[in-house]
Amino acid sequence: MIKITDKSRCCGCEACRSVCPKNCISMKADKEGFMYPQVDLSRCIDCKLCEEVCPVLHPASSTKAPLAYAGINNDTDIRLQSSSGGIFTLIAEQILQKNGVVFGACFDEHWNVIHRYTETKEGLSRFRGSKYVQSHIGDSFIQAKQFLDEGKKVLFSGTPCQIAGLKNFLRKPYQNLLTVDVVCHGVPSPKVWQKYLHESVCKVYHIRQSSSFPLADKVTDINFRSKEKGWKGFCMSLVYKNQKKEMIPFYNDTYMNVFLSNLSLRPSCYVCPAKLYHTQSDITLADFWGIDRLHPEIDDDKGCGLILVHNDHALSLLKGLNCQLQEQKLNEVIAFNPNIAHSVKEPVNRNFFYMIFHKTNFVSAYKASTSSALFMRIIRKIYR
Ligand SMILES: Cc1cc2nc3c(=O)[nH]c(=O)nc-3n(C[C@H](O)[C@H](O)[C@H](O)COP(=O)(O)OP(=O)(O)OC[C@H]3O[C@@H](n4cnc5c(N)ncnc54)[C@H](O)[C@@H]3O)c2cc1C
Ligand code: SF4
Ligand code: SF4
Ligand code: SF4
Repeated sequence: MIKITDKSRCCGCEACRSVCPKNCISMKADKEGFMYPQVDLSRCIDCKLCEEVCPVLHPASSTKAPLAYAGINNDTDIRLQSSSGGIFTLIAEQILQKNGVVFGACFDEHWNVIHRYTETKEGLSRFRGSKYVQSHIGDSFIQAKQFLDEGKKVLFSGTPCQIAGLKNFLRKPYQNLLTVDVVCHGVPSPKVWQKYLHESVCKVYHIRQSSSFPLADKVTDINFRSKEKGWKGFCMSLVYKNQKKEMIPFYNDTYMNVFLSNLSLRPSCYVCPAKLYHTQSDITLADFWGIDRLHPEIDDDKGCGLILVHNDHALSLLKGLNCQLQEQKLNEVIAFNPNIAHSVKEPVNRNFFYMIFHKTNFVSAYKASTSSALFMRIIRKIYR
């Protein structure tokens, strides 16, 4: 049965929990706020199914190099609502047109990030836009399997490790399944996200940070990737019930600083099991960073997507989308977006950040962590 002894060896995909025939695995949050499986030994029959489906224990064998495309949705409104080129919505609409069902990550009423499905075009708006928090899969793998067994077309979107978990959980190929993942920097814990949001609300409403209240009562909209000031200089946008709106450029926002300096990521993200050549998806979507250098003529700063196509079926679907497409050289796009192929490095001060983040506020934890990193660098230099 599954037993987590090294946290970097579990990406939290929930495939093990979803497959257990005895329902004896539950996901429990650790101190950092990341979920890990825990087995109720009294009910376990030692069938080993949970180990068989684990994408860390059983990663995909090497896949061939994908084709790379720049992609821009012709519908500018949808593109502006999306994080990069708005290609996800186009793919999803294709599936819905065939009476299919689309799974993706969205917010619940308390601004937690969770996986859900929709059968309507309107329902897609909840999935649009990157949420930089690990989403809870819940029963999505089980529901997707039910739809697939009924013969319905299913589009499942998520991080590469979630797609790997789904594919292992299904244990057989389905012709009616299409999978889309994103190039993945890594995911912060839900606990870090909720603390940031709680503190932001307290500041705006002048409430003491020790007080508790439902976030649903205070926040009406969140966008991690608002393009109001452009795609490349994107902002964290928070809209509150009291009409106040915050639009913070990503480089000034503490949550994004902590995320992009890799302090808050899940341990598995530093040794990701599902990077390029190990992904199990049909299509991978990303930001086309570097488009302003490679093809300035198509960059209008409203968002350009990078599309990696892993098989012929996905390629024929892509060619039918209502978008501008331009083939690219894979090595050139990787040079501008190293997260495609490589895991980010674990910072020396990560554990320090998580140790003090419980004890102080978000900004102080970030500041203390960056000065601790500087201190450690100086000590290392003196030692050398
Ligand atoms: C956690 C995370 C890290 C990323 N890191 C990078 C990166 O380093 N480099 C890069 O080029 N691109 C990265 N991306 C991808 C990029 O931000 C866009 O999501 C992608 O280009 C698709 O954009 P779009 O405009 O086509 O569609 P959008 O409408 O913007 O994308 C929505 C899609 O993202 C999925 N999604 C949103 N949040 C989550 C989540 N928390 N967990 C799982 N799936 C989610 C939805 O299910 C949907 O499929 C990341 C995305 C996420 C979610
Ligand atoms: S060994 Fe079988 S019964 Fe036990 S936890 Fe794993 S899947 Fe469940
Ligand atoms: S990686 Fe997924 S399947 Fe493996 S132990 Fe973690 S949650 Fe379970
Ligand atoms: S970096 Fe890898 S392990 Fe981490 S969430 Fe993304 S796909 Fe999963």
